[in-house]
Order: sequence, then structure tokens, then C-alpha cells
Amino acid sequence: MNTTADQIYIVGTGISGLVAARTLEKKGYAPVILESSDRPGGRVKSDTESGVVYDHGFQVLLTAYPQARRHLDFDKLNLRRFLPGALVFNTGTPQRIGDPLRNFSSLLPTLNSKVGTLKDKWKIFRLSSGLKQKSVDEIFATPEQTTLQYLEAYGFSDQVIRTFFKPFFGGIFLEEALSTSSRMFEFTFKMFSEGYAAIPDSGIGAIAAQLVAGLNRTTIRYNQPVQQVTSGAVILKGGEKLPSRATLITVPFNPETGELRESGVAWERCDNLYFNVSKRTFEEGVIALVADPDALINNLYFPFGQNAEGCPVLSVTVVKKHALSKAELIQRVSEDLERYCGIKTKSFLKHYAVERALPKRGDLKMKPVEVQSLDFDNLFLAGDYLLNGSLNAAMASGEAAAEALAASLA
Ligand SMILES: Cc1cc2nc3c(=O)[nH]c(=O)nc-3n(C[C@H](O)[C@H](O)[C@H](O)COP(=O)(O)OP(=O)(O)OC[C@H]3O[C@@H](n4cnc5c(N)ncnc54)[C@H](O)[C@@H]3O)c2cc1C
Repeated sequence: MNTTADQIYIVGTGISGLVAARTLEKKGYAPVILESSDRPGGRVKSDTESGVVYDHGFQVLLTAYPQARRHLDFDKLNLRRFLPGALVFNTGTPQRIGDPLRNFSSLLPTLNSKVGTLKDKWKIFRLSSGLKQKSVDEIFATPEQTTLQYLEAYGFSDQVIRTFFKPFFGGIFLEEALSTSSRMFEFTFKMFSEGYAAIPDSGIGAIAAQLVAGLNRTTIRYNQPVQQVTSGAVILKGGEKLPSRATLITVPFNPETGELRESGVAWERCDNLYFNVSKRTFEEGVIALVADPDALINNLYFPFGQNAEGCPVLSVTVVKKHALSKAELIQRVSEDLERYCGIKTKSFLKHYAVERALPKRGDLKMKPVEVQSLDFDNLFLAGDYLLNGSLNAAMASGEAAAEALAASLA
């Protein structure tokens, strides 16, 4: 089979598009990726300026992700691990909450911490052990409720929900009401219990860079925004029409017209601000949470090995809704850091407002069902928005869509 002669297009060089290209290459195809921006990675990007690495929003790779284990070479990513658990700033006094299952040294502060009752700590241990026995398939087949309802039904105290679960999972789901599906909670909790949260040494963008480097027969065309897909063609914004034998789209599109415009997908947003500070007030590798309900900031950490102007860099994430201008936001975040965490910032470094960070959706899945659009011939769908907002889902969707495409052509 001469698969290189096939005109196969992938729209988007996000993680789903890159994994789709990798999967198609393994089947012998040589796809072309059309990317609207000037570099790969989609939501997984880092900038390096004056030797400092800035991720576009704080995100972590969970090393237990089954898809990441298959598609990434962890050793070559030089992963820097976060310590399990978190440091919680609650009314001024930082408290360490850890996972005694993996990091025994965190047991004592966990037992002593005022973040939750002893019963809560036992329940966290029990939940973690229980989820280790529950498969990912079982998790995504369990009836959904909100994460908050799930935690209340599990019998956690209001105190531990407010001081640990809301800031910790609010920072992951990018919404503090914990209205995200309990399936996502169980999946994420399981992944945290079975592996580590980590970031590549050179920033989260290294994940996309590794996937790009692994492609040998794929052509990536940057600055090529796609306007519309039809049965048999891809139409670029400039009007150029590319005949296509099969197309795999990784972004939301309008199933009636084939236009790549927002199609009813709602998104969670966040702000990520970087400052430098005179000294680290807690260790690298620790994720700190701000539990005080009046604080705007959600979490902070010291990016591994990052110094600007000879001082440690601090990354801060805001999840709560606000209507502040950039200048007001910087001011407010600096005040919050001092007030709730006792951290005085030296200077402001960078701000990323990530408007489309995570897709909001119900009926979360981990196995794609919508791999093919029935309205168009040979049009295949991928992207985290079809399943759930995670690197694992992006990879799973890209792989499944590419397999369906290859099967259809074969
Ligand atoms: C702030 C933040 C925190 C996160 N935290 C985590 C975390 O801790 N752990 C985790 O697992 N996941 C996390 N995620 C989610 C994870 O990053 C995403 O699930 C994943 O990157 C989505 O990949 P994708 O390929 O589906 O989509 P995208 O990354 O959105 O890729 C789509 C690509 O298509 C391109 N494109 C768009 N329109 C067009 C067009 N018309 N023509 C051509 N190209 C187009 C875009 O430029 C982009 O490159 C986080 C995301 C963000 C933003």
C-alpha cells in the first residue's frame, strides 16, 4: 500500500493532533498537520525568556496516565516530581497535608495538620486505596454527580472540603465550586495515588516538543488557519482549497457547516502570574494552596531551578472569576501573597490569561465514541473537548481517531 500518496490532513498540533500523527505514521501514513499558530503544542506550551522557563498556565503531567506512559519517553523528559499532597495556607499558618501511602515522611504532619479531622485523613487514605482497585473503565462507567456531592456523600467534613479539596481540585478543574464530574475527581485522584505529578525540566512544552521530534513522515504547516472542512477538502482561511482523502480535526467545529468555529463548547479559564521573590519560603516540588475563601489566588509553587535576576521565580494561579485589569490583578495577587502566605514579591515577571483552558462538559468519558463525523465523508474527530480536559484524554482521542481513520482507508 502506497500510503504516502494519500492526502491526509490533521487540523491542530495540540497533544491530540501530535498523537494522531504518531499513530498514523505507525500505520504507514504521512499526514500533513495544519496549525493556525506559529508553533506546536496547543495548550501545552512554554516560553523561555532570559533563561527563565514560563509555562502557559500551571499544568502537570501525571506519570500514571496510561496514555502518557505509552506515548512519551519519561526519562528523556527529565521529569521533576512534585511531592505528594500539598502545603495549605489557611488563616496564616501553613499546614502540610501529604499522602502517607507513598511519602512516609509526610505522615506525621498529615496526622498533626489542622486541615481536616483524623477521620478525614483516614478517609483520604481509604479513598486512595479504594481507587487503586477501581479501573479507569469502571470509573468512567460510574453514574456522575458533582465532585462536591461526591465528597459530601463520602462523609468528608466541611473543614477538609473547604481547606483541602476545594483549593486542590479547584486548581486542577479550574473551578472552585467543584461542579466538575465525580468521574474526573476519581480518575485524577487515582492518578495522583498511583504516580506523581511532574513537569519536564525544560517546562511543560517539552511534552509537545518530544512528540514533534518523534515524527518522521509528518509535515507540519504553521500559520495555516483552517476555515472549513467538507467531504473531500480542507479550506484554509485565505481561501486555498486542499483536496483531502481523510481529515482529522482536533478542535470544535460546526457539524452542520463544517466550519471551525466555536460550537457550543464552554471553557474554564485561569490566570497564571510569575513573580520573583527574595527567597523561597517553602521547598521546590511543593504545591501550595490558599484555602482562605477571601483570597483570590488558588495555588503557588516555585518552578524547579528557575531564577530571574538572581532571585527565585514564583508561579501563582488564579482560578476565581474576577473583573480586574492586568495592573489590578498583579497588585491584588501581590497583596494576597503577602497577606495569606507571608511572601513579599520583588518584581512582576509575566502574566498568561488562559481563556480556553479546560472544556466544561458533562458525561465525561475516557474512551472516544465520536471518532467519525457522520455528516461528512472521512472526517474524524479528536481533542480533549470530546472526552475530558486532560493530557490523557487528548492522547486517547488522537490515537482512537487516527486508528479509525486508518481502518477506514484500509
Ligand atoms: C492552564 C491549563 C492547565 C491544565 N492543567 C492540566 C493538568 O494539570 N493535567 C492535564 O492532564 N491536563 C491539563 N490541562 C489540559 C491539557 O493541556 C489539554 O487537555 C490538552 O493540551 C488538549 O490538547 P488538544 O490537542 O485536545 O487541544 P489543543 O491543545 O487546544 O490543540 C488544538 C490545536 O489546534 C490549533 N487550532 C485551533 N483552531 C485551528 C484552526 N482553525 N486551524 C488550524 N489549527 C487550529 C490550536 O492552535 C492548537 O494548536 C490544562 C490546560 C490548561 C490550559
